[in-house]
Amino acid sequence: MTIKLLSPNLVNQIAAGEVLERPASAVKELVENSIDAGATHVDVVMRDGGRTFLSVTDNGCGMTQAELELAVQRHATSKLPDNDLWNINTLGFRGEALPSIGSVSRLTLTSQKQHAEEAWSLLIEGGQQHTSEPTAFRPGTRIEVRDLFYATPARLKFLKMPATEIQHTLDMLNRLSMATPQVGISLSHDGKTLIDYVAQTTNHTGQLERLKEVMGREFADNSCVVESERDGLKLSGYAGLPTLNRGTGSHMYVFVNGRPVKDKLLNSAVRAAYKDFLAKDRFPFVSLFLDCPPEAVDVNVHPTKSEVRFRDTGSVRGMIVGSIKHALNQAGHRASTTVAQEALGAMSAPAPAYYQPSLKPIPGYTYGATNPAPAPNFHEPSSATPNYGSVAPGSMDFELPSAKTFDTPVADTQQTSYPLGAPCAQVHETYIVAQNEDGIVIVDQHAAHERLVYEEMKRSLQAGHVQTQPLLIPEVVELPTHQLQVLTSKLDDLASFGLVLEPFGNGAVLVREIPCFLEDTNYRQLVTDVADELSEYDASTSLKDKIHEVCSTMACHGSIRSGKKMTPPEMSALLRQMEATPHSGQCNHGRPTYVDLKLKDIEKLFGRR
Ligand code: ADP
Ligand code: MG
Repeated sequence: MTIKLLSPNLVNQIAAGEVLERPASAVKELVENSIDAGATHVDVVMRDGGRTFLSVTDNGCGMTQAELELAVQRHATSKLPDNDLWNINTLGFRGEALPSIGSVSRLTLTSQKQHAEEAWSLLIEGGQQHTSEPTAFRPGTRIEVRDLFYATPARLKFLKMPATEIQHTLDMLNRLSMATPQVGISLSHDGKTLIDYVAQTTNHTGQLERLKEVMGREFADNSCVVESERDGLKLSGYAGLPTLNRGTGSHMYVFVNGRPVKDKLLNSAVRAAYKDFLAKDRFPFVSLFLDCPPEAVDVNVHPTKSEVRFRDTGSVRGMIVGSIKHALNQAGHRASTTVAQEALGAMSAPAPAYYQPSLKPIPGYTYGATNPAPAPNFHEPSSATPNYGSVAPGSMDFELPSAKTFDTPVADTQQTSYPLGAPCAQVHETYIVAQNEDGIVIVDQHAAHERLVYEEMKRSLQAGHVQTQPLLIPEVVELPTHQLQVLTSKLDDLASFGLVLEPFGNGAVLVREIPCFLEDTNYRQLVTDVADELSEYDASTSLKDKIHEVCSTMACHGSIRSGKKMTPPEMSALLRQMEATPHSGQCNHGRPTYVDLKLKDIEKLFGRR
């Protein structure tokens, strides 16, 4: 085998294989160059998903003829003035984007240096550089890429439908846009404008405006501010309320020193912060900006620079988890407004035909009846009207209830000023309906109480004291061997949770003490559920790391069941407790515990507005 040096063009094509995955990556490199060149406006134009044509035009610093010719050389960059890889303040620094693109496409560069008189243009075809020529332009740069990957047919085959390629470009441009509110950015495809973000100020307001444009009002309305600073690290941005969640992580945006990154460490820190509030397969909305001294982070990890490596990963992770949790704590019982919007959306007004009696007679009801029978008592369902709400329409004789039914003033007007309002009724023995100043609140009693118990339990665990209640008659619970093993290996840990168990004979445990809030529970079920939960983890996992799962299991047992009748004072107490408890707006799986329907939206539903 003879060893020989690869030709420069081959080297460029190999680099292109890493840097350029698809049209979106070419756009990314070019727009990053424009941002590095100090542009305040960048226009991206694409045709055919970027396959036949893409261009990026900016009003940045521009290049002279000499600079233009140097820029397309491999390893030529203006961005490492001190030759210091640990002090990078630009998006680019590797000096390989332009030569790589030039080696696999037909690349035309046109540029005019700021304050210079003349403009120059340069063409490179499949790595073949033509001579530069004078041309007419204005200060700034335009880079045009035709027939991307024509020189590397293998890569061309991997390109997807134009719609897919555009989606990738949109996603990438959105990420870049969020980090650079000071730059106006537009994207048009086959003559259609897809993005047109105006330049904003770099301050807080500008950043929020840009975030709204990219992530939508929904996110702006349903997120809390994240802000913290420690040991030279600064974290800012927004964390979405847990009830605003998605099935993929595509709405998790993280930036390090202004660079959009998709980094495992950072993403896992974000997910850890939401672990208490979201099911394993749900993802939050966040946009977080981490700023740190350039020497604290290595950006030269990956050719596309989308991954980073920190000198001190522990403190970065700790900061992200802590700051998001803190921000969510501040949100108190808030659940996202999207919950109510979705609920209202589902309640569309029925078509008028529905009301025509001839189409759907209601058995037992005579239209125009003058003498309605006594109304069923709404608050204390008697045996004659069991489970009032759950009876299917038409399955029983029924009189239109008189207005009197609802006369009784249940809603205590003093309580309506509370965010979750005054309870008016319990329906289906599952939901509490309350009235607040500007609408109706519907609470899922089980989900809400489960969350309260869970939060309470975590609080007392952290304080190191769970109140327990000894059982007068300890209960014997028989268990299969594998469950017995996990439980007996964790007896001390479980005791710290307030669950005091003792081995009992060969195949059983004795339940001696339980946490106070679990008083009226099925102990057998509780113990087996906890054992099930524990057997999912290996023996070395400390129970302290599984607080979330174990508390969840216990909380579920300790909370008000659906189907339990509640008195008005019990309902009020639950609502007031929710208001006082952080994170009570969602259950342990990120589902809402209540919906808040605004009167104005309800009025719209009935055509009153
Ligand atoms: P890098 O960005 O890593 O330096 P590139 O190959 O992307 O490498 O670009 C090479 C050089 O060309 C840059 O360092 C910069 O000086 C110059 N350049 C590229 N694009 C522009 C632009 N839009 N405006 C001004 N200068 C540019
Ligand atoms: Mg570059």
